[in-house]
Amino acid sequence: MKTFLRLIGLTRPFAWWMALAAIIGFATIGSGIGLLMASAWLITTAALIPQLSALQAGITGVRLFGLSRGALRYAERLISHNTTFRILTRLRIWFYDAVEPLAPARLAAYKSADLLKRIVDDIQSLENIYARVISPPVTAALVTLLIWFIVGHWSTAAAEGVLTCQLAAGIGVPLLTARIARGTARSINGLQAEQQLLAVDIVEGMGELRVFGMVGNYTERLHEAESKKLAMQKKASLIEGLHESLTGIAMNGAVIWILYSMLPLVRTGAVNTITLASVVFGVMASFEAFLPLTGAVQNIEADVRAGERLFEIIDTKPEISTPEHPEPFPESTGIEIRNLAFTYPGSNRPALDGVSFNVPQGSRTAIVGPSGAGKSTITSLMVRFWNPAQGAISIGGKNIDRLNPEELRQNVAVVSQRTYLFGQSIRENLLLAAPGATDIQLRQALTMAGLDSLQSRLDDWAGQHGMNLSGGERQRLAIARMILQDAPVNLLDEATANLDAVTEEALLDTLERTSEGRTVMAITHRLHHMERYDDIVVLYEGKVIEQGNHEELLAANGFYAGMWKLQHKE
Ligand code: ATP
Repeated sequence: MKTFLRLIGLTRPFAWWMALAAIIGFATIGSGIGLLMASAWLITTAALIPQLSALQAGITGVRLFGLSRGALRYAERLISHNTTFRILTRLRIWFYDAVEPLAPARLAAYKSADLLKRIVDDIQSLENIYARVISPPVTAALVTLLIWFIVGHWSTAAAEGVLTCQLAAGIGVPLLTARIARGTARSINGLQAEQQLLAVDIVEGMGELRVFGMVGNYTERLHEAESKKLAMQKKASLIEGLHESLTGIAMNGAVIWILYSMLPLVRTGAVNTITLASVVFGVMASFEAFLPLTGAVQNIEADVRAGERLFEIIDTKPEISTPEHPEPFPESTGIEIRNLAFTYPGSNRPALDGVSFNVPQGSRTAIVGPSGAGKSTITSLMVRFWNPAQGAISIGGKNIDRLNPEELRQNVAVVSQRTYLFGQSIRENLLLAAPGATDIQLRQALTMAGLDSLQSRLDDWAGQHGMNLSGGERQRLAIARMILQDAPVNLLDEATANLDAVTEEALLDTLERTSEGRTVMAITHRLHHMERYDDIVVLYEGKVIEQGNHEELLAANGFYAGMWKLQHKE
């Protein structure tokens, strides 16, 4: 109920549009009732072979209601679709605004296909809230009231009987069919989500599935989900058919009741046969308003489920927040890391445990250590993807939590070990780092990153996840992005890990040149050319165990010297 009320609350800005559409929907069905009543009047009057002029009122009525019904139906569709699309637009913007601050920390727990389903399908299914859940009951209530007055004008007993049949069609039948259908919409929704997750896994992991001979297994699971979904959809269609039949029975019950209670009035002459025929036809037409009601009740379940899935994300508190009055990014860019500790959610081992070191402005510091030592975690904390549990990071003497996170990320360029390339052109992938860059600047950056070969391919598609480029080219493209970003602080997280020794050598030279005068923190576990760094911090199980320059650390003959000797086979 709470979720439903929250969903209704979201449509509040469109209340007037919704009311207008419901009123026009009512007028459309009202015209349908008028059309059938006028037709019945015309046919029964004509059967008595009167003068043509006596039929004039009926002919005018048929024309009027026939035309107005079409025009009103068009207006109702126009307004209700307009309202629905406005609601969808608002919901999508609202959801995106809420999701963006959650990335990446709070979204790590969700599979990407699951998130996609929430953004696309769940929001799409909420359009029902207006089109199928709110509007039909309002229209049905207004139609019930209209028929009450029309029939009640001739006979209260007939009106009471019709009302009973309408309540059965409008409340009893939807509740009954919704009870039979309980869980169907939810299951269809869940099965669709499962199908999409599997489909994305199959497409993205096709290579691995082929290698391990699991393609059949996965497609079998996809077929299984599909057949379960089809069975559920069949059940939903049968229930819909049941609902239409029951509504038909209620309508026929109303007709029998009118005849039963009004025929004595015809015999006494209080009501003539023409009126009786018109009333019967009018009541039959009114039942059109009750047909969408089962959809309304069934959709509540699916909509509430979709709403729950969306609110689950919306209600998540972002890991970081933007300070109310952020300070400008400092002029000087010396980095000071003090007593930093951090544990990933769900992990019982700290990734960082009391780490402290400084990177003076314009200097180059390497962070080395075995896999899992916590090196990349420092990068994530530096750009505020996560907040440290303890300690602080300062740039130019300012704690980074006092800066605007976006400004911080503009000034701290990162090349990580996993570069994400968008399924767009190489040019667009580069412009991400510097939206205003000219082609000359893009080409310069490519040359500096050792990617002369891509100079003439700026408009080529990079492929899904950059699959049209080699691993080394993707990495060098990330370095070209960093060159374009031109930030005073550079973080290199295994930036040259995927390159062959010769290219790595060339690129390290490039990085040294391009990062001249900038503050550089480079994470590596390949100990090549370590004499390039002013300082080396050795991390082990989240703690700093050694620090110094290459010569000093070799002389100390500790962990670093051991790593270095191992890698250089001495
Ligand atoms: P590598 O050189 O292999 O990249 P690293 O030194 O950069 O390793 P981190 O990636 O910082 O190590 O990871 C430190 C620890 O935190 C590891 O034990 C890792 O399993 C854990 N870890 C990293 N990312 C996450 C995450 N998103 N959720 C949970 N644990 C994580």
